[in-house]
This record gives sequence, C-alpha cells and structure tokens, in this order.
Amino acid sequence: MSSTPLPATPAPAAAPAAPGTALRAPRLVELTADADPRAVGAALAALGLWPTPLRDPDGRVRALSLHPSSALCAPSALAALPGVARVLGAASPHPLVDALARRPVEVAGHTFNAPGGAPLLIAGPCSVESEGALSVAADQVAAAGAQWLRGGAYKPRTSPYAFQGKGDEALRWLRAAADARGLRVVTEALSEASAPRVAEWSDVVQIGTRNMQNFALLKAVGATRRPALLKRGLCATVEEWLLAGEYLMSHGCPAVVFCERGLRSFDEQTRNLLDLGAVALLKHTYGLPVVVDPSHAAGRRDLVEPLARAALAVGADGLMVEAHPNAAEALSDGPQALSGDELRRLAHHLRALAAALPPPPLSADWAARAASRP
Ligand code: PEP
Ligand code: MN
Repeated sequence: MSSTPLPATPAPAAAPAAPGTALRAPRLVELTADADPRAVGAALAALGLWPTPLRDPDGRVRALSLHPSSALCAPSALAALPGVARVLGAASPHPLVDALARRPVEVAGHTFNAPGGAPLLIAGPCSVESEGALSVAADQVAAAGAQWLRGGAYKPRTSPYAFQGKGDEALRWLRAAADARGLRVVTEALSEASAPRVAEWSDVVQIGTRNMQNFALLKAVGATRRPALLKRGLCATVEEWLLAGEYLMSHGCPAVVFCERGLRSFDEQTRNLLDLGAVALLKHTYGLPVVVDPSHAAGRRDLVEPLARAALAVGADGLMVEAHPNAAEALSDGPQALSGDELRRLAHHLRALAAALPPPPLSADWAARAASRP
C-alpha cells in the first residue's frame, strides 16, 4: 500500500559537499520506534528524496521507501536524521566516479564542476590531415578563445577504405601546434598498443564512441594515468557509461570527463539523437564533469550552434566542436565542420550565454545539502 510523498519542510541552508563524499541512491529508511513518520518524510523530501510510507498490516509506518530517481546523497547523512534507525540501499558500483562529484576537478588547465565558471571550448578538425592544415586550424581554434585543440591522429572509420588518420606523426603535429598557441591536446586512442604514445603526446586521451565498452582499451588508457574524455557509446545506458568511467579510474586514470555526442536513432535527418536529459542527469544529479559534442550529434553544421546553446543551458561544463579551415575538402566529417569565422561567432555567443545563465537548479543543491550533513 502506498500514499503520496510527504510534504517538504523549508530546506536548510545550502553547504558544499565534503570532497570525496560517496553519493548513493538509498532505497529504504527504517524508523526508530518513537519516530514521527511525517517529520522524517518531510526532512527527506527537503533533501530532494521522494519518500513513500510503508505501512504494516496494523497501519503503522515503520519504514519509508525512497524512489529510485530521488536525489543522490550520502547514506550517512540520512542515518543522522532524528527518527532514522537504518538506511538500506545497494552500494554504488562506481565509487571512484562518484568521488568526482560536486567538487572542483582539474583537467588540463580547466576546472570542471565550477558553477559560474567560463565554459570549456574544445575545437579542431575531425582528423589531423597535414601539418600545414592543422596549423591553420589551430590558429582559428586559438583565435576563437578555445582552450583545448582536438583532432584525430588515429581515426575510427566505418569503412576500411576511408581515411584512417596520420597516426604518430599527427600526434607530434598536434603537440607542436598546441604548445605554440598555449592550447591543450585531446586526441583519441584507438588501440591498446597506441595508448601509451597517445598519452605521451596529449593532455587528455579520448575514448571514442565505438570504444566505450572496449574494456581492454579502457584498462590500457587508465594505466597511462592521463585524464580521459569518455564519449558515450552509440546505444549505451547512462549506467554503462558511468561504469566505463569506473574502468578508467580503477586502472589509474585520475579524472574522467564524460562527453555526450548523441545516440543512434531511427531518424536520418540528424546523424544522432543528442541526449540532453542524460547531460542534465550527469550534471545536476551526479555532479560530474560533462561536455557535449554537438557536431557528431547533428552531423550538419547548421545545427551545431543551436545544440551547443541547449547543452550549456542544461548545465554542460563545455562543448567539443569540429572546425576545419576548408570543410569542403575535409577528409572526414566535412558537412558538420564549422569555418574559422563560424567557430569564433559560436564561441562568442556561448560565452555570452554562459554569463547570462542563472545558477544551477535545485537538484544539485539538494544533493549537496544531503552530502554535507553530519
Ligand atoms: C571524434 O570525436 O573524433 C569521433 C570520432 O567521435 P565519436 O567517437 O563520437 O564518433
Ligand atoms: Mn568527426
């Protein structure tokens, strides 16, 4: 038997979560014999949890069940509430990822989880095609005010006849182009064998969509101890994505930035279906570093800016955008590449939008309060 959630009481003052506090989804709160179920329910509701009283056959409430989509919080915070005897719930399967939650995470010169901070812009060509073309692209990336230079040295291509990337020499060009302009490098590791070389020449190692569950690769990239940018698989659940992050961290990766780039869908008008709900969930409920790649989501340059704006509005820490000095002749993903001017305009608009956005919504606040309670 169930009833509607108990009403909320006024929330306590917000306080930051203690670093490393494990945020979980507790499922059941057992009450002490003398507890007032309504008061406990109200205290839980104020923390963003959705309690439902569980009644014995005699009509007495001895426990409250918590909806699985309730805010995450530290179980110890709930155990400390008056009237609570015990908090039950499954342990998180990704504790190392959870520990990144809601605290400043430094990756390659950028601080993630810093509400109100300027968004991170990652930009560059889909593939690194030549030293000269990369140099022009890097000038445009720097002129737009982007902080990280992207570009594939090793390319995962659907067709074996398509351009496969320039490999190790492209890694060296990326490093030189970035260093000359004060940028950082993010580029994809496609194989276990090349992971150490990719880590040596880059600041952040990208795991591509097609490799999100290549567990051997995740372990090899983790072992390089470089931070990783983890793109979501084409049909991966959020939990699978988080667990892929846990693979990286449990093998040595110091931090993971999650990158939503669209899921495979039935529609052919856009390349993928951008899951902004998952971005909101990762940011506001889990409190994790998350960026959005609107280029691979849209597959067409006219939609890159609208999707980028939406991504910032739902709380993304930044954007990863493809740009090419001569998109018509790009060796991969030309239709979605922005020109240098388009990139500069986009960056300008995104900075203005970020500055105008109000503070993050309640859910982040709720979890922070729950985690910071004694
Ligand atoms: C890329 O960013 O270079 C890329 C190949 O993207 P994805 O893995 O998202 O397809
Ligand atoms: Mn691409």
